[in-house]
Amino acid sequence: MSQKITLNNLWQETSVEAIFLDGLKEEITTDLVIIGGGYTGCSAALTAAKNGLSTTLIDHKVGYGGSGRNVGLVNAGLWMPPEKVEGLIGVNAGSKLNEALASAPDLVFDTIKQYDIKCHSNRMGTLHCAHSQKGLSDLQLRFKQLSERGAELELLDKHQTQQRIGSSNFFGSLYNKHAGTINPLGYCQGLARVAKSLSANIYESTLATSIQPFNKGWLVRTPKGSIKAKMLLIATNAYQTPIGGLSPSKYTSVKYFQVATKALSSNEIQTILPNGEGCWDTASVMSSFRLDNDNRLIIGGIGNLSHNASKIHTSWAKRKIKALFPQLNNIPIEYSWHGRIAMTADHIPKILKLGNNAYSVFGYSGRGIGPGTYFGKAISESLISGDESSLPINPISHYEESFSSIKGSLIELGATASHLL
Ligand SMILES: Cc1cc2nc3c(=O)[nH]c(=O)nc-3n(C[C@H](O)[C@H](O)[C@H](O)COP(=O)(O)OP(=O)(O)OC[C@H]3O[C@@H](n4cnc5c(N)ncnc54)[C@H](O)[C@@H]3O)c2cc1C
Repeated sequence: MSQKITLNNLWQETSVEAIFLDGLKEEITTDLVIIGGGYTGCSAALTAAKNGLSTTLIDHKVGYGGSGRNVGLVNAGLWMPPEKVEGLIGVNAGSKLNEALASAPDLVFDTIKQYDIKCHSNRMGTLHCAHSQKGLSDLQLRFKQLSERGAELELLDKHQTQQRIGSSNFFGSLYNKHAGTINPLGYCQGLARVAKSLSANIYESTLATSIQPFNKGWLVRTPKGSIKAKMLLIATNAYQTPIGGLSPSKYTSVKYFQVATKALSSNEIQTILPNGEGCWDTASVMSSFRLDNDNRLIIGGIGNLSHNASKIHTSWAKRKIKALFPQLNNIPIEYSWHGRIAMTADHIPKILKLGNNAYSVFGYSGRGIGPGTYFGKAISESLISGDESSLPINPISHYEESFSSIKGSLIELGATASHLL
């Protein structure tokens, strides 16, 4: 019962909401069965249990997937500027999705507050940092489009950005004061703890091995038990293991890694991110940085650490730390881990309707804390009301992608090449 999420994952060492639950060893009946205990599944479980549905969630380990490994940036919206979203799925559907996800940080931080989830939440904002003049033009465009849609943002110049970050590396930045950072695993485990306190059954060490329609509902089999349910949610995103009766979700899997330094001394920390904003940059091979609650500096980038290129990525991270904050040259790295991101071809998340009262959700394309929390809640509410119009995006019955494994390898190859420089 004490499975590790990944070796040397900082969040696992520092989450104070750690949760250890038994496996399913019997046949049970429930209203809603949820496969996958990340933000989507746990938020759905919390909402369903709060609304009186008997709810069962199963996973290998709560927070085992992206939810236990990510950077912890609680952002509004998707990666893409809002006009691009509207261009891809139409103005009405795009505006609905943009509006829903613009409110996602409120949902996350309100949930944390309401249920006292202990995940070191810091709503001091985020900085999207321009790594070049072109990056600055991109931020100006985002600023315009987002402001026109009511977002309260500030476009900071080079000097203001330097004061916020303590680094002269950037051409400017886009500041969102409503966003912030969390311990991502702690938040996920906290959602599970709350769902459980509202009477949801949550089983760990329990993977779904098959699903099948059964008596107008669903039968989910696990290695040592089974679950009969009226409703089904598959929330396995980039970590889906094979489930009989279900076609695997189609997306491109992209690895993203992070390293965390030892805690910075009071001298070292003085000028670095004094307000603790979470940061990422505009480079196409993007990188991120933030502090954790103990003032460790965490740097991340695209790449796979269980791979021959691991040394290239960690050497890049050390050079990046030195380039951003020369005073931290040679600071020891104490943690390193990685995770998989489910990218769809158009970077828009998908809700697949699998049949009667059953959905599968995936493809947040790198931004899933707000979206996962929102989609999970919305799906439970829609299953309860029978009204799909409250979903942030229309469900589809089929989704295909071609060449996803080649695309994933090419992205990784490109990142490795850029980390060599
Ligand atoms: C390194 C990294 C950095 C990221 N940074 C950010 C960030 O800063 N901000 C942000 O908003 N998003 C970020 N993301 C994206 C975000 O983490 C994900 O979009 C989000 O966690 C997805 O949540 P989820 O609940 O849908 O899926 P997951 O958290 O991946 O959960 C899926 C779960 O399903 C379980 N599962 C799979 N198969 C089965 C089965 N057969 N039976 C039972 N359970 C099963 C898995 O064990 C897993 O726990 C990042 C992702 C990564 C990997």
